Amino acid sequence: MRITVLGAAGEVTGSGYLVETARARVLVDFGMFQGRGATDEKNMELGPFHADKLDAVVLTHAHLDHVGRLPLLKGLGCPIHATPPTCDLAQLILEDSAHIQEGDARRENTWRERAGEEPDVKPLYTQADVAPVVALFRGLPYHEEREIAPGVRVRLQDAGHILGSASVRMTVEEDGATKAVVFSGDVGQEDMPILRDPEPCPPADMVFLESTYGDRDHRPAEATLAELKGILRKAAWEKRKVLCPAFAIGRAQLILHVLAEIQREGSAPVVPIYLDSPMAIRATEIYGKYPGSMEGETRRLLESGEMRRDLQNVHPCITPQQSRELNDSWDPAVVIAGSGMCDGGRIMHHLRHNLWRRGVQVLLTSFMAEGTLGRKLVDGAPKVRIFREDIVVRADVHTVNGLSAHAGQGGLLAWIERCARDAAPRIALTHGEVRQREALAACLKSRFGIVPALPERYEVFDL
Ligand SMILES: [Zn+2]
Repeated sequence: MRITVLGAAGEVTGSGYLVETARARVLVDFGMFQGRGATDEKNMELGPFHADKLDAVVLTHAHLDHVGRLPLLKGLGCPIHATPPTCDLAQLILEDSAHIQEGDARRENTWRERAGEEPDVKPLYTQADVAPVVALFRGLPYHEEREIAPGVRVRLQDAGHILGSASVRMTVEEDGATKAVVFSGDVGQEDMPILRDPEPCPPADMVFLESTYGDRDHRPAEATLAELKGILRKAAWEKRKVLCPAFAIGRAQLILHVLAEIQREGSAPVVPIYLDSPMAIRATEIYGKYPGSMEGETRRLLESGEMRRDLQNVHPCITPQQSRELNDSWDPAVVIAGSGMCDGGRIMHHLRHNLWRRGVQVLLTSFMAEGTLGRKLVDGAPKVRIFREDIVVRADVHTVNGLSAHAGQGGLLAWIERCARDAAPRIALTHGEVRQREALAACLKSRFGIVPALPERYEVFDL
């Protein structure tokens, strides 16, 4: 068996692997390159395979950096296996991605036309490219083994990263021998609300392990959640307006979960909650469909209808008009809107209309990349620029760190410990930047005596 690393090699986006045997060709994830250094050219470069010759695709989870390039695979006709929640969320994410790319291309062409240039920018892909991909999705529940190609079987287990996220254990039968490879996917943090803890790495001959936070530990989730709860509770007592920039999938539901808990306890006055993001509204509906994929208490609250009762004061804002109506209000409320990093989306309007007001609370719970408005707020900028307008920051800005969807160094080591000790697998570290994966490599060497590979894009592993 040959495994080619297609991306996320020394960086955190563009995840993908090609597995080839004498009888089969399988893809595990096919994510988009995003952020610094990600160009359309890099995304368009598909790798050493033909889409129409693939036997199957397996997805670890629905994030764009794991599924975002599937619509580029012209002629793809094989089944795409993923957990049922991942199938639903991946559809939402791919449709949104196509929508964003169509919009970006349209805007760029308008600028070019005005500048007297040729308006020939094409989107990476469109809605029309997404539908055929979605038609290939096949739900594969956790812990069910399935032969997806001749001699290739997969079993998914919970990775605790987002709803439906999985690690993939693949067993390959070739020339009378059986080999097992594990693709960790993104491994989540323990003790996070809503999600179950990641299931530890099963025995394998080789493991591809993510290393996003390979160099550090997060503060325990419990302390972070208590802090978050404290800020929301105090704001409700003081009748403040709270703005929560949040990613539509994962973070928005986590904030709703904490607000529901506060209301269930009756520990603060009930204030209206505005879920101001069509995508977060759809994602929350998908979350509601799969209580069976969640940790026990959340599952109970959903199945008994308690969660629905606790969240009666949530108002979904679907149209831009509904969103605009919140702009000038001084009433106590919680507004959840995207994007999480404040680099676009409806939250920009809320910030523009509220940052200059004393008493408004801004609650930052996401990682903020360099250069984003979110990062400027984290860094305490006294003034920011939004839509070509200078806005003074008089609102109280709270930064709550530690709510990562990724395990820290200790979590990753705990995840792989049993497999490392019992099976002494080969390990390759992917999905991490240079410093992070080198730090994790040093830990794996000192703790388990395993020197992991740090592959580059298109590096090949023979098993
Ligand atoms: Zn992810």
